[in-house]
Order: sequence, then structure tokens, then C-alpha cells
Amino acid sequence: MTTYTTVTAWTQKEGERRVTDLFIDTYHYHPQGVWQAPGRVNLIGEHVDYNGGKCVPIALPHRTYAAVATHDDNDRLLRLVSRQADGVTEIDLNKVGPYDSPQKVDGWGAYVAGVLWALEQKGYGPFPGYDIAIDSCVPFGAGLSSSAALECAIAVAVDDLAELGLGGSVDDPDDEGRKILVEACMSAENDIAGANTGGLDQSSSLRCREGKAIMLDCQDGSVRPVEFDLGAKNLTLLVIDTKAPHSLNDGQYASRRNACEQAASIIGVELLADVSDTEAALAQLNDKEQYKRVRHVLSEIERTDKAISVLDSGDLSGQRLEAIAALFNGSHDSLRDDYEVTCPELDTAVDVARQAGAHGARMTGGGFGGSAIAIIDNDKVDATMKAIVDSYQERGFNEPEFLLVTPAAPAGRVN
Ligand code: ADP
Ligand code: MG
Repeated sequence: MTTYTTVTAWTQKEGERRVTDLFIDTYHYHPQGVWQAPGRVNLIGEHVDYNGGKCVPIALPHRTYAAVATHDDNDRLLRLVSRQADGVTEIDLNKVGPYDSPQKVDGWGAYVAGVLWALEQKGYGPFPGYDIAIDSCVPFGAGLSSSAALECAIAVAVDDLAELGLGGSVDDPDDEGRKILVEACMSAENDIAGANTGGLDQSSSLRCREGKAIMLDCQDGSVRPVEFDLGAKNLTLLVIDTKAPHSLNDGQYASRRNACEQAASIIGVELLADVSDTEAALAQLNDKEQYKRVRHVLSEIERTDKAISVLDSGDLSGQRLEAIAALFNGSHDSLRDDYEVTCPELDTAVDVARQAGAHGARMTGGGFGGSAIAIIDNDKVDATMKAIVDSYQERGFNEPEFLLVTPAAPAGRVN
């Protein structure tokens, strides 16, 4: 009998309780509050964020929780503890600098200190010191943005505690202010943690809407809600965490990003999203690999535009469901064949989900491991998960894990 593991999301009450317990156990007093930020999956629009295209993410019900208290004495010391890491880390906020400088911050504290550093660079602050405890049910390194969830939980906490007045509340978010928090979190990841990120992850965590997907335009930074109500049609969004051993390889990411930038300059546009005539643009590229990379980006931008107009035009049934399925499948195949960022685990998950009757399946996130998604009839979810586990076993892959997700609320204070 095949068994499988699903990763259930904590309720916000449970997350609050867990992280408050950790705070009290560690620091022996009560936090001032608890803040949370979700992980995300991108439905479509992959590797287009840094090319100025559009993405369609949802926030996950899986969240990172931060219990925080301000130091009264302005010591500019961060004390950090996480249920997902060892020990208590101390960081002097006066000694935080870019990852390639002598003031580099080691370990996961870089994501936390980086947010404070980036906000100070923008003229918010200077901040006092903080005690922080972290707990999370967002899988690590699964392409579901645990790093952005960590940054964004810190950003909304500091926004409230230091009264920056940027993000508003979960129920009444200030989207313009949240854009500034997104920039700070991106800078934390790029400049302090030294990891490449295009902004999709942080925008999703801070700017998504409960019950909806969002269209994120990575060129002008605008977002708007997009209908994505699978439950109404007895459909499930299944996330398959492949547990593949290799995570997003920075060298591979950078080489694809460079190929896109170089192609844009050959074509004579600032960003590939500015290309208006795909055929003519591709005809200018002589390097075969570069041609394929650009063909993925341009075709993915087109598929994403189509997906947005399908989702805008009515519920997910009949021809609209078929259209989304074809776009999901086309996206994966292009990422596999042209962008070459999939791996055997991702391809297997997608193939098996399709054979089991999925209405479209694709990898999501950066690739080289991480997660895949599939739209599945509710009554086929169980059989699909078993079929994937079986075929992973046959191939000797790590055991995958599954998340059943609906679009959740953005980052903010837990009430
Ligand atoms: P992803 O964002 O896809 O999950 P990343 O490699 O970008 O994967 O980020 C994972 C890193 O983020 C971890 O290695 C760790 O440094 C940090 N991180 C994320 N969540 C936590 C947490 N709850 N506690 C401590 N560190 C965390
Ligand atoms: Mg990440």
C-alpha cells in the first residue's frame, strides 16, 4: 500500500502559539506581538520577473511566524532564534554590510538583519535592538519561498513596532507602502544574503489577496487580483515538493539572467518584455543556446498574458479549464526544453500528474529541484499523489511531499 506525506499548514493561532512558546523559552519574557508572512507558488510566468514580464502567484496558507520584542535600551543588538535552526544568534546592527564586504553576515540571520539594513538604507530607522523568535511551516528550499516569508515577516513586524506606517493591516493593506517593504526584502536577499531574487517572492508574500491570485507586472510593479477559485469547480491545486537534492543553483540562475540581458541589448530593448515582434527579435540571435533561452522568455510572457485573460473571462470549467491546462503544460515543456531548468524529479512529477488526469502540470519557482504544481479533480488527488510516490520509488528519488493549497492572505500581524 502506497502512503504519502502531506504538509499541512498551521492555523494562525497555532503558529502564534508555537512561536510565542519558543520566544518565552528562549528569552524568558513575553513578545510584543506575532507577525506572519506566507510562502508562495507562482501559477504561471516563470523566469520572466527579471525580464519585465508578468507573473501570477498565490500566497500559501503555509507561513513563517515571527514573535518580536523591542529592546528598550537602543543597544542595536539582534537576538535571533528559529525552530528551524540551531542556537541563538546575536547580530550587532552597526556591523551589518553587503555579502561581499568584511561586514558580511553569516547564516540565516542575514535575511533578518538584511531587512533592517535595507530599511535603514532607505532612510527608515535607525532601529533599536530586537529579540526575535521564528517558527515556520513553509518547507525549506522547496521553491516555495521560505526565504521571502522570513524577510517579509520581519518587515511587517518592524513596520508595526517602529511605527513606519508602510504596510497597513492584512485586512486593509497599503499596497504602495508594501512596495517599499518588498524593495527592502529584495535588497536584504540580494545585497546582504547574497542570493539572487527577482522580486516575485517578496511581492507575493506582501501583496497577495486571500482567495485570489494576483497579476504582478514586474515592469511597472503594479498588481491586481485575478480570480482563481478552484474549489468552486471541485478542483485542487496540488503542490509537489520534489525533495530533489539540488536546489536552485546560483551559477545556473546567473547564466540565464546574463543570457537574457545580453540578448536584450542585441535586440535593442531594455527588457525582453519590451519586444513587440517575437520572430524578428529571435532572428537577431545567432547563438543557439541564447536563442532557446529567449524563446522561453518570450513564449512564457505570451502564455502568461493568455492565462490572465482566460482567468479574467470566467470560472475554471470547460474550455477555460482546458486552455489553462494547455498553458501550464506549455510552460513546463518550455522550461524543460528551452530554458533547461527542470530536473528528472520535476519532469517525473509533471508527467505522472498529467497521466493521472491533471488539468495541466508544471514546475514552479526557479527550477533545478523545488516544486511542481498540478490542477486536479478533487476525486483524483489521492490517486495522483500515490502514483507520484510510486514512480519516485521506482526511480530511486527521494520521497516527495505534498501540499494542498488555496490562495491565502498576505503578510501582517497575527491578531
Ligand atoms: P526557498 O526560499 O525556496 O525556501 P532559499 O534557499 O531561498 O529557499 O531559502 C532558504 C534559506 O532561508 C534557509 O537556508 C535559511 O537560511 C533561510 N530560512 C528560511 N526560513 C527560515 C526559518 N524558518 N528559520 C531559519 N532560517 C530560515
Ligand atoms: Mg528563496
